[in-house]
Formats: sequence, structure tokens, C-alpha cells
Amino acid sequence: MTHNDSNTPLLADVAERYVKLVLAMGRHDASYVDAYYGPPAWQEEANAQPRSLRDIQAAAQTALALLAGDASLRAINLRTQLQAVLAKADMLQGACLDFDTQSARLYDAVSPHHDRAYYAALVAEIDALLPGAGSVSERVHALRAQLIIPADKLRAVMDAAIRAGRERTLQHIALPEGEDFVLQFVTNKPWSGYNWYKGNYQSVIQINTDLPVYIDRAVDLGCHEAYPGHHVYNVLLERDLVRGRGWVEYCIYPLYSPQSLIAEGTANYGIELSFTDAERLAFEQQVLYPLAGLDPALAPRYAQLNGLLARLSYADNDIARQYLEGSLTREEALEWLVNVRLYPAEKSAQRLQFYDAMGAYVINYNLGQDMAKAYVERQGATRAQHWAAFRDLMSSPRVPSALLP
Ligand SMILES: [Zn+2]
Repeated sequence: MTHNDSNTPLLADVAERYVKLVLAMGRHDASYVDAYYGPPAWQEEANAQPRSLRDIQAAAQTALALLAGDASLRAINLRTQLQAVLAKADMLQGACLDFDTQSARLYDAVSPHHDRAYYAALVAEIDALLPGAGSVSERVHALRAQLIIPADKLRAVMDAAIRAGRERTLQHIALPEGEDFVLQFVTNKPWSGYNWYKGNYQSVIQINTDLPVYIDRAVDLGCHEAYPGHHVYNVLLERDLVRGRGWVEYCIYPLYSPQSLIAEGTANYGIELSFTDAERLAFEQQVLYPLAGLDPALAPRYAQLNGLLARLSYADNDIARQYLEGSLTREEALEWLVNVRLYPAEKSAQRLQFYDAMGAYVINYNLGQDMAKAYVERQGATRAQHWAAFRDLMSSPRVPSALLP
């Protein structure tokens, strides 16, 4: 990694071109620009002078040519992000990319494929954990029905979970004074939680309450959306790269880009980094269950179930791939979601909406998590070393393919 060639006027020029191209792309897809806190004049210019997708692609090619031969991490990141702009522009012009091509071009990674038999073996373990009448899916939901956070307890439980994530994060990562977030509860969304980064170290975190929020989601969402996940990631990028180094490309975040694999992967890996299984069980059982008015005696079995359910997470990728490529019908995909992924029926319908809206984005959560975990854990043996590597990964321009050994 060379930093001496990472601040050239040429790279600054390409970075500015890139930001303006992403703003121009945002005119073609309202969900494309996830966060922007750069010069307001650039946004005004993008609005006042809309650019065609063909024009955007030509300009992206020009910017890519300027990067030729530069092997710095910053240049590689700009190149990879620009290539994702080209892919998204192709898709918006009607190009029908298969799932793996889409994930390679947008997210710089490809998920492994698993067949139904692979997941059936994992479902069999859950079958054994929860003996009784009815399908495995029904037994999972019978247990989960006892673990819903009541609506009037949701804010207190989420606040406690986020506070715990923040305390653990601050033991390893210094954050700038004044960093903060607002927590909101919303409905009618295809996702379960979202972090909208506003710049100046501030986030708006939204939790979707369309569906029941189960007690395990408090730690998951708190760590993922806030500390040490998305909020911390964005704060570190702003402090260390945008302000610290003047790398303007980080004042914008295009959702369908390799940066999302790093963002979602670190946000998910941050959960287990913050809480070992034993610490998490103790915290949930002693703090969150009582706050939610739930029976703490259920906690150990539910934690065991969630450990097994987590191993089914790649089924999301396999179901999305087959559904989006047409080898599973909508009804067949719903059946897989219920009986293979073991989602409740209403959650399964929400997942199809998510695949329709987001395409191959699903790989960023589980594959991103595994790639971030493997990378971080290769950098050292102790938990303190893992936190240090995690912090470095979140404030460096390392692209997904560079996480691989
Ligand atoms: Zn996320």
C-alpha cells in the first residue's frame, strides 16, 4: 500500500469527476445516492443540468482512463467504484445481467451457490432442536411468537441495545466529539432498518415496524445501524478520509457499489465483534428481556436457535438469484423462504420486495460479513487486534476483492 501517490492533483480531479457522475446518476434512480454531504453547488449543478446515461458512461470511461497504471488503494477504489457506475448505467438502460455478473460488477464479489440439500441438512439441526408437531417453520415461529418486543417497549429496548454497542465500540475506537444519531420508527419499507448519514457526524436511524421486531433484532440492529456499524463507518470516513485527507470521493455513497459490501459486511461483523455469544446471551437475558417484559428463561434456547438460523443466511442469495433469473417462480421463492430460510410468511413477502428493489444487493450482508470477518481475523489473534483491524478497514479505501487472501 502506497500513500505517497494517493494525494496527487490527478486523483483529486478523478475523485471530483466521480462524485459528479454519481450525483448525475442519482437523477436516473432516486435510491442511488444513499448519502451526500459534499459541496451543495455540485448537487445543484447535477439537478440543473441532467446528464444522459450515455453521457455519464462516456465520462466514467474518461475518468477510468486517467487512473491507468495507478496501483494505490485510493486509485483502485476509484476505479472499482467507477466500474460499478458503468454497470448500473448499463442496467438502467435495460441490460439484463445475471445475478453473479451483477454482483461482480456492482459489488466486486460473487456469492457461492448452495442447493436445497445443503440447507435441508441445516434445517434438520433446527428440527432436532425444536421437537414437536407441525413443520419446522411453524415450530420456529411458535417460539418466536413469545419473543416479540411490545410496541410500547421498543424504544427503551433499542436505546439500551444501541448504548451497549456504543460503550463497546468506544473501548476500541475513538469517535469525534458531537457524533450522534436520531432514532425513528417507520412503516411501509422493504427493509427492517436503515441508516441515513447526514454528514457532520450525524445519522438518522430508522427501524421498520411493519413486522414484529423480535428481541434478538435489538442487538443486531443496534450494532448494524449504529455502533460499531453504519454510523461509525460513516463517521470514520468523514473524519479520516474526507476531512483528514481531503478525499472528496467519500462525501458521497452510491448504494449499488462495492462500498456497500464493505458497509454491510462490517456492520454485520461488528455484531459478533462487539458481543461474544456468551456476552450477548448475558446482556439480552439480564437487560433486554426484562426491559421488553419477556421471559428470560427462553433466552438460551432462542440464542441457540438464532445461531442455527444464521447459518441459513446464504439461502437469501440462492433464493434471490433463482427468483430474479426466473428459475423459481414467485410462489416457489416464497416456499423456499418459508421452508428453507425459515422466515415467517409475512417476512417472506417483504424479502421478495427487497429482491425486486435491490437485486443482488443481498450478498453484501452475509458474504460481506464473512469477507470482513476473514480479513479482520487474518490481521491478528486477539480481540484488541481484531478491533484495530476493523477500525482500519472502515477508514481505508480497501475494495471487496482486496479482502481476499
Ligand atoms: Zn445495512
